[in-house]
Amino acid sequence: MQSRIYSSYAEARKGLLEETFSINRMQSRIYSSYAELKNCNNLNIIEMKKVVILLAAALCAAVQNASAWGRVGHEAIAAIAENHLTERAKANIEKYLDGRSIVYYAAWMDQQHDHKPYKHTVTVDKDNEPLSPKKRPELDGMNAISLSLERLQDYKNQPKDTVAQDIKFIVHLIGDIHCPAHIVYPKVTRFFPVTIMGRVKKYHPVWDGMLDYNHGWGYNEWREQLDRYSEEEIAAMAEGTPMSWARENAQRCRVIYEWAKKDDVLDRKFINQAYPLAEDLVVKASYRLAKLLNELFDE
Ligand SMILES: [Zn+2]
Repeated sequence: MQSRIYSSYAEARKGLLEETFSINRMQSRIYSSYAELKNCNNLNIIEMKKVVILLAAALCAAVQNASAWGRVGHEAIAAIAENHLTERAKANIEKYLDGRSIVYYAAWMDQQHDHKPYKHTVTVDKDNEPLSPKKRPELDGMNAISLSLERLQDYKNQPKDTVAQDIKFIVHLIGDIHCPAHIVYPKVTRFFPVTIMGRVKKYHPVWDGMLDYNHGWGYNEWREQLDRYSEEEIAAMAEGTPMSWARENAQRCRVIYEWAKKDDVLDRKFINQAYPLAEDLVVKASYRLAKLLNELFDE
């Protein structure tokens, strides 16, 4: 029994490191281990305690593996963007994705495929300015975005697999640079513990999962509920470049480290303050992604 839980724990740790870990699978294993534990009356109290600590640690490890906006958030961004692709751009893109939609591949980068391990973050300086290409770490998300965009300008002369990968990178990373916890400020810790709605979590994944604190929708419902702006509003939101969006997001999002500090107990009040920022950033990411893809593929 105990060794089973130890191995669940080891798997959780390993999954956390490899970022390939399925939270659902982990949770169901923990639940079944727990059910077995309840039936098991020959464990003494100390053993019980050890087991409970390991279960908690495994769950914690699982929860901390969330990616920016989670899978559904990325799919929602892609789905809203898709609504605003021209017919020609959509058809052109899908030729490179074997007939599939950008929604299908929206979270592909989080699912450990074989590609350069770019970080899903944007690093900025003390004045909220995204680091210049010379200064940013090689694996910074902004490097991936600019290299992919550069190659896509010339996509007709690129190998099909390269184009497909660059589309998947852009679809995912434009979402990531709009996630507050994915902006890396100098001397600001993003992973401090807080208690939210009675559960201890790191602050970063609180933001990754922010959308779910108000609605547990699928991507189509997000599309239905959020994609309700006029053409003028959409054009205004989509203005700029990935650099200016990253800068704007860095300026807007620094405040999240005033909204919560280490060991804070966060409740509804915090969520009501935080959620509108998350939702607005998701909408902007969607329209900006559509603009980028139309500029590249509507020809
Ligand atoms: Zn990501």
